[in-house]
Amino acid sequence: KPRPKPSETGPQRVAGVDHIIAVASGKGGVGKSTVSANLAVALAAEGRRVGLLDADVYGPSQPRMLGVSGRPASPDGKTILPLRNHGVTMMSMGLMTNDDQAVVWRGPMLMGALQQMMNQVQWGALDVLIVDLPPGTGDVQLTLTQKFALDGAVIVSTPQDVALLDARKGIDMFRQMKTPILGMIENMSTHICSNCGHEEHVFGHGGVAAEAAKLGVPLLAEIPLDLSIRLASDGGAPIVASQPDSAQAGAFRQVARAL
Ligand code: ADP
Repeated sequence: KPRPKPSETGPQRVAGVDHIIAVASGKGGVGKSTVSANLAVALAAEGRRVGLLDADVYGPSQPRMLGVSGRPASPDGKTILPLRNHGVTMMSMGLMTNDDQAVVWRGPMLMGALQQMMNQVQWGALDVLIVDLPPGTGDVQLTLTQKFALDGAVIVSTPQDVALLDARKGIDMFRQMKTPILGMIENMSTHICSNCGHEEHVFGHGGVAAEAAKLGVPLLAEIPLDLSIRLASDGGAPIVASQPDSAQAGAFRQVARAL
C-alpha cells in the first residue's frame, strides 16, 4: 500500500518503520488490546516484521497479554530496548511504571512519553507498528495523529449503542485529523454457550456492521465473546499464538490478511 509522504514540517515517520496502524476504541473494555495483540501475532505469522506499542497509559495490558515482564533495558541511557515474544517486538508504557501504580499524567507528559516511545525505542526494521491506543479521543490520540504519519486506524467496538456512540466520536476525530479509517471490528459479537451450544447475542449483534455501512468503512471482522479468547490473553499467549487453527484465531488472521 502507498506510504504517506515524509515531510520536514508535517507528520514524522519512525526510523525503520514502514507502516503505522492505530487500534482505537471509544470506550475501555471493548477488547481493543485483545484485538491489538492478536492482530500483531497474526501479522507476524504472515511473515511481517511487527512491533506493538502499548500506548494505553491508563490500562496497559500488553505485557500480560503477550506474556512479557520486567523493565526494558536502556544500555546507553538514551534509547530503550523493546521486549519480544510470539514474534512481536513490544514496548508498553506499563513497563515503565510499577504494576499497581496509578498513572496520573497530564497532557504534556503524555505527549512527551508517547514521542519517546515512538522515537527512542529501538524498534529495528519493521513492516508494521501497531499502536494500541487508550480509549476515547484524548491527548495520546491527538499527539499520535498530529505528529506521526499514520497509515490508518482500526476501530474496535462492541455492538451496543453506548459503545457505538463513542466509537463514532473516535472515527470523527480520525477523519478530522485526516487519518484513514481502515475498518471497524465488532468484538463480543455473539456468544456460544460452551455447555449447550446455544448462541446468544449478549450485546446485540450486527450493530457495528450497520454503523460501518452507514459511515462507509469496511467491517473487518466479527469476533465472538469466547472464554478461550480471554483465557489465552490472561495466560500470556493470545489465541492466535496458542490456538492458531481455531475458528476464533481465524477471525483475527482474516483481519491481518485484509490489512
Ligand atoms: P480494552 O483494551 O478495550 O480495554 P481488553 O482487550 O483489555 O479491552 O479486554 C477487556 C477484557 O475482556 C479482557 O479481560 C479480555 O481478555 C476480555 N475480552 C476481550 N475480547 C474478548 C472476547 N472476544 N471474548 C472473551 N473475552 C474477551
